[in-house]
Amino acid sequence: MIDLHAHTNESDGSLTPAELVDRAIGIGLEALAITDHDTFAGYETAAPEAAARGLELVRGIELNTFFAAPQAGRKRVNAHLLAYFLNGVPGPAFVTWLTALQASRRDRNARLVQKLRSMGVDITIDEVETLGRSLTGRPHFARLLVQKGYAGNNEDAFRRYLGEDSPGYVAREAPETADAIARVRAGGGVPVLAHPVRLQIHDAAAERHAIAELRDAGLAAMEVWHSDHGPREVERYARLVQELDLAPSGGSDFHGAAKPDVALGTGRNGNVAVRREILDGLRARAVLA
Ligand code: AMP
Ligand code: FE
Ligand code: FE
Ligand code: ZN
Repeated sequence: MIDLHAHTNESDGSLTPAELVDRAIGIGLEALAITDHDTFAGYETAAPEAAARGLELVRGIELNTFFAAPQAGRKRVNAHLLAYFLNGVPGPAFVTWLTALQASRRDRNARLVQKLRSMGVDITIDEVETLGRSLTGRPHFARLLVQKGYAGNNEDAFRRYLGEDSPGYVAREAPETADAIARVRAGGGVPVLAHPVRLQIHDAAAERHAIAELRDAGLAAMEVWHSDHGPREVERYARLVQELDLAPSGGSDFHGAAKPDVALGTGRNGNVAVRREILDGLRARAVLA
């Protein structure tokens, strides 16, 4: 068994990179990809540890992108794009692009602090960045709001202050999915659509059309197995990758205590099971790229 989707505390997971490696070895994983949001810091910290202990570790990243899906009105949907760098380090142009994404996130965070302060919430950028380490996101704002008593829990913080439909919402610039796919490819990576169920395109034909468009833009693979996928989704996406000539991929999307019902390797109540050959399939796409 392998797991190609996991987060450390360098983004919004709760385990340190070393703890995640330890957990992976403990449950007998044959390979693990660290796919933190917008940062390689967790992977880079874990790499020597994994090498010393004989765990195959894959460099990954998860990027939030926007996609004008070819459905009624070309509504913009959020598409999470995973990228795996299977043959060495990302090219310099990709690293420069990623640095700009990180800068625009920090800019959003500063504006979000201002907005919340204008709403009477007493927080500072330093407080939230201390929680966020190398990659501060809204989940860290949520934790701070709970700690300071402005919200009862994470969901409450998003409902009252941080979510898209809440008064404190501050949008973050994100790349178009096709642009991100092209940049991953140019940087030597394999672009993979994460948890397609979260595109929330409920009509099967429209969903297929949308994913075909991403395939035409250079998408290499899609998650068939994910902790948000029940048996019906696994069956649908397994068929879809075959029809669209994408490679199948998958992982738990483990976040540790931040998502306590999702286990490394096996997902939610054992709904994730990714075989070693799946990684070989991604490698084949990297060579062809
Ligand atoms: P950011 O990338 O900083 O904008 O934060 C995005 C993250 O916030 C997502 O990956 C989720 O983990 C979390 N998130 C976004 N919306 C919600 C919501 N309505 N409720 C709970 N968590 C959310
Ligand atoms: Fe996350
Ligand atoms: Fe995601
Ligand atoms: Zn994830």
